[in-house]
Amino acid sequence: MTAPFRVIVGMEVHLQLRTRTKAFCACRVAYGDEPNTHLCPVCLGLPGALPVLNAEALRLGVRTGLALRCAIAARTKWDRKNYFYPDLPKGYQISQYDKPLCASGFLEIDADDGTTKRVRIRRAHLEEDTGKSFHVAGTKHSRIDLNRCGTPLLEIVSEPDLASADEAARYLEELRKVVAYAGTSDGNMQEGNLRCEPNVNLVYPNGDRTPIVEVKNVNSVSNVARAIRFEVARQDAEYRAHGRTMANTPRSTRGFDDATGETVHQRTKESADDYRYFPEPDLPPLDVDPALVEAERAALPELPRARRTRYVEAFGLSAYDAGVLTADRRVADWYEQALVAGASPKGVANWLTGEVFARLNAESRGIEAVPFPPARLGELTALVEGKTVNAQAGKQVLRTMWESGEAPKDVVARLGLAQVSDPGAVKAACEAAIAAEPNAAAAVRAGKLEAFGRLMGAAMKALKGKGDPAAVKATLTDLLR
Ligand SMILES: [Zn+2]
Repeated sequence: MTAPFRVIVGMEVHLQLRTRTKAFCACRVAYGDEPNTHLCPVCLGLPGALPVLNAEALRLGVRTGLALRCAIAARTKWDRKNYFYPDLPKGYQISQYDKPLCASGFLEIDADDGTTKRVRIRRAHLEEDTGKSFHVAGTKHSRIDLNRCGTPLLEIVSEPDLASADEAARYLEELRKVVAYAGTSDGNMQEGNLRCEPNVNLVYPNGDRTPIVEVKNVNSVSNVARAIRFEVARQDAEYRAHGRTMANTPRSTRGFDDATGETVHQRTKESADDYRYFPEPDLPPLDVDPALVEAERAALPELPRARRTRYVEAFGLSAYDAGVLTADRRVADWYEQALVAGASPKGVANWLTGEVFARLNAESRGIEAVPFPPARLGELTALVEGKTVNAQAGKQVLRTMWESGEAPKDVVARLGLAQVSDPGAVKAACEAAIAAEPNAAAAVRAGKLEAFGRLMGAAMKALKGKGDPAAVKATLTDLLR
């Protein structure tokens, strides 16, 4: 069955760049500080105050643009976006209107059909943030905190290339990973340093379209997906009820309500005319130094998607494992440092995502909490793969390393965990197991192979858990034949 309509989603993201100070003054950028303590005449827009561009904001904007494969403008300029709002004491934001810093990039994601989709980035421009107003619980008052005024943002606008709520969610996850790898933003949606506004509408096979709706106040990736799913259902119901007359409805803005999962009409959307953009008179046009762009291009690390592909192709990892290891750059770096001679990349990945992650999750801690250097995990993997210890004893070695920080081979020697492969010792253990479990042995001989596990367990126990499982299995099979 073909879908009765296509879903079209474009995404606007406001990304807070990770600078120490604000975009046009020397006030500190600090989340969660005492309200209204990081202010000066410039970020308050007092008469006569003059903005000066923070070079670090420009550098991080260029770097983010390059990570999104954008072209960086050789010359850009600043514009005032004028509007009144209580959290905007200046009455305007300094932004970039017709000459954005970055344009024509893309971000690759997994499409719903499993192929790679290139989501085009139309533009990314620098601007300053507003303050925040919030309601005081239990009172009728709203309060204003202007600390955020003037914080540097990069507004990243995609083309409407996303075809579902899931693709929109994957786009945001990928964007968050890319800026974390590039080191340009914390990308934390809860703290509001990555804010997104999906634009949603539907197209029907006869060419009819529902009007574009921009959704605001969405504070997590899962809520972006919820908001889009709600909009798709709501717009289709509207279209079924009103049909073609919808084409004349203007674009609108709706807010997302986390509690109900619904979007609520806020206003018809402003056009650029409503903002009366004009060139910022206090800042000259900006010539971007080509040397800065080339230095940032050269310093850009391998990005998460390229790294994930490399892990699949060069290391033979599953796409899932490669995704887990590359989701956080620190984990991927740790993993690669653990790849020492003698250990297979797949084996090290299994130990890391299995035993090590289980311990970290139990302690709710990150990769930096592993109490030994990465190479030690590679050495342990090599000991298991080289059959110096079996996998079960390997886990004991890891536990001990976690407490003592010792090298794995020292743990094996000290605790006498070396694997027993000596044919005589293995055979003796297997004979003892058959003697101790006569019923299981008879069952296996009669073709009931599920009883084999009991004999394996008994033989491994006789070898104090240190037997070579493959040798034990082969020997038992021989003896029972
Ligand atoms: Zn200031």
